[in-house]
Amino acid sequence: MSLQNTLKTYAKELGADLVGFCELDHAPVLSLPKLRFAVSIAVKLSDAVINTIDDAPSFVYFQHYRTANALLDNIAFRLARKIEENGYAALPVAASQSQGKNNPYRGVMPHKTAAVLSGLGFVGKSGLFLSEEYGSTVRLATILTDLPLTPERPVIENGCGDCTICQKACPAGAIFGELPLTNGERNFDPEKCSRYMKEHFQDIGRGSVCGICIKVCPRSGGRKNNPNS
Ligand code: SF4
Ligand code: SF4
Repeated sequence: MSLQNTLKTYAKELGADLVGFCELDHAPVLSLPKLRFAVSIAVKLSDAVINTIDDAPSFVYFQHYRTANALLDNIAFRLARKIEENGYAALPVAASQSQGKNNPYRGVMPHKTAAVLSGLGFVGKSGLFLSEEYGSTVRLATILTDLPLTPERPVIENGCGDCTICQKACPAGAIFGELPLTNGERNFDPEKCSRYMKEHFQDIGRGSVCGICIKVCPRSGGRKNNPNS
């Protein structure tokens, strides 16, 4: 079995629902220029938990979000160790990233980039990653490595079509309702999203976990809900 297949099997045994592989167009960490390949992993969130979100976030979702991040971080940690044991370098990128107060909304790299290049899904008008199988009901993490990896699925096109449901539903007005821009700029405003949470739901937790854009997306839950089918 190839090391790529071994990693895929191992990631699924550890709890990953989706696993993809790709080569990035550049190494995200300047000091580690050889780490330009990526393993993208996703775990599916609970549909029942997502259904606890109404027109406001829920504690149940906040706690589930953190648990999903912890699971992803654990899987990424162990996959990175497995890669190292086989003689390659590997850097696990945490599910929830920040580079401190000066750059709170950017991390080492967008997990969405690796997931899209791995053919696992596309970035929707909400700015969320929408997987082929589960729509936006997933959380992501990434492992950067110098182990040469090959995508197993083709990159797929954005499938939002004419839908603008998330834009209309976002209570913060943070979603522009546009397709992702090709110059790397975001198609939603993470600061507005986070500020909304901090101003209205301080008791639930830090920003960016309202979840309404996940709840309302017709693609959440997968292909059967495709608004264009
Ligand atoms: S998490 Fe909530 S506030 Fe943030 S973009 Fe989604 S719907 Fe808007
Ligand atoms: S709600 Fe509609 S426009 Fe927004 S991400 Fe989902 S499919 Fe795309």
